[in-house]
Amino acid sequence: MKVWLVLLSILFFTFIPSGRAVEPADLVFINGNIYTVNEKTPHAEAVAIKADRIVFVGTNAAAKPYQGANTRVVDLHGATVVPGMTDAHYHFLGVGQREMTLNLEGITNLEDFLAKVKVWVDKAKPGEWITGRGWIETFWKPPVFPTRWDLDKISPNNPVILGRADGHGAVANSMALKLGGVTKETKDPFGGQILRDKQTGEPTGMLLDNAQALVRRQVPPGAEGNDEQAAVLADKRSIALGWTQIQDPGGSYRDVDLYKKLYGEGKLKIRIYKAVYGPPPSNPDAQRLLDEGPIIEAFGNRLNVRAIKVVSDGALGSGGAALLAPYSDVPEIKSADGTMKRNAGFLRVKDEELQPMLKQALQKGIQVETHAIGDYANRFILDEYEKALNAVPKSERKIAEPRWRIEHAQIVNPSDIPRFAKLGIIPSMQPSHAIGDLHFAPSRLGMERLHGAYAWNSFIKSGVIVPGGSDAPVERGEPMIEFYAAVARKDIRGYSGEGWHPEEKVTREEALKMFTIWPAYVAFEESLRGTIEDGKLADLTVLSADIMKIPEMEILKTHCLMTVIGGEIVFKATPVSVGIPVPRGDEE
Ligand SMILES: [Zn+2]
Repeated sequence: MKVWLVLLSILFFTFIPSGRAVEPADLVFINGNIYTVNEKTPHAEAVAIKADRIVFVGTNAAAKPYQGANTRVVDLHGATVVPGMTDAHYHFLGVGQREMTLNLEGITNLEDFLAKVKVWVDKAKPGEWITGRGWIETFWKPPVFPTRWDLDKISPNNPVILGRADGHGAVANSMALKLGGVTKETKDPFGGQILRDKQTGEPTGMLLDNAQALVRRQVPPGAEGNDEQAAVLADKRSIALGWTQIQDPGGSYRDVDLYKKLYGEGKLKIRIYKAVYGPPPSNPDAQRLLDEGPIIEAFGNRLNVRAIKVVSDGALGSGGAALLAPYSDVPEIKSADGTMKRNAGFLRVKDEELQPMLKQALQKGIQVETHAIGDYANRFILDEYEKALNAVPKSERKIAEPRWRIEHAQIVNPSDIPRFAKLGIIPSMQPSHAIGDLHFAPSRLGMERLHGAYAWNSFIKSGVIVPGGSDAPVERGEPMIEFYAAVARKDIRGYSGEGWHPEEKVTREEALKMFTIWPAYVAFEESLRGTIEDGKLADLTVLSADIMKIPEMEILKTHCLMTVIGGEIVFKATPVSVGIPVPRGDEE
């Protein structure tokens, strides 16, 4: 019997020099330039994977015993490997829809904008809705919002609604406004604004935040494309860029059911950490999550649903971000009651809706993540979180440290920055927002308020982690753009204006953490993901250049060569697609 066992172990195991037997791995990567983000062994050459887990990280020589007869060995030829990258704020279906509907990104003037929309209008049947998104007037000359009257010229017979890139504003034509019942007499809804002509008070077609719903609810389902197709497209695009998990901030159980179906059918590869919109009662899905409890680590650790997303204000570019003092660059405007006001943005949520939800979330172990852009919104949410944390002591919470987050934490009064660490609140931030906004934020906010704007380094120094995201499809949603923005704090041409606080950029080591271990932590997965370490899920992103060493501008030219999720190579670049040598597996 004993002899039989010994024979068996000779057949199936190899002995490494220390005498410890190892089982052959399924997949071994060798000759890599591997950044592990594990402080004990920060750098390695080889990784061995068995099923969906990492079983070895170290030198090429020490990886030898893991290479059995049936092991697939991939020579990386020196390519750089980092832990599977995660985008902590990525609207998954929106990314897919961007590929499917009228995409207005990259347009630089009103004429081109109208010409592009007209192509879609000409293809549509009379009365059919034209929907699209992605335009941003910031770089237009002059940088003014388009109006209903502009759109009426090219689309008199089709209702049109086109979302601004940030999702916090949309322009509608007269027909769409009519269908939505928006007239001169319509009052601004709570948390939204109908922009009006300064002289006549007529709606201009621009609808901010909650005001968009007046028109959007008239758009028939399906007009914005099929969600299943959008999810599959988003998956394909995301893994090709090197993302291994995305954290999807907001949505519904409809999305959750769709993801479950697609995971069941093997059509989704990427990991998704999903939130549903709150607070109840206007968002019943949040109550359902509180009642039913979270979904954790389903489909082989691919799906988590354990957070509620709240939106507390608008965006800076569209003027809906709630500020402590008025915007520096906007004129007074006539409000519905006829008075002239200077805009300071608006809150979109109330204390009396939030408190019951926050307390229940603490009792039931549900994470809360709140969108807050302006310094007033950030202070308001910190106050709200603090109040609930004080009302429900640790002994009454399901999770003592609930890791609640503020999404964006974009403009924060410097006196509020230390409150994050004190309360255990995590700022989840998007580097590319800063390098896009740097062109208009100084005039919009004034120099003084830029202290505390996009203050990544101040946050890190204050003792909190900063998970990084892109907010795609608001931004492109590409890991190399985000990594570059975090370390350079300059736009993609290398420009940075006066007052742009270069000291708020982060080191490359910190930037790597922003897209690996920190998002893993904020998803309660730091023991599962986020570093290349024995026992963790085998998620890797292989890159065409050493982003920890190359000159800043070259980061933007870096490509994803390979994406590994749970030990499976889910994406591999072809030499043609990247124009450089690509690591090859032994089977080809
Ligand atoms: Zn977002």
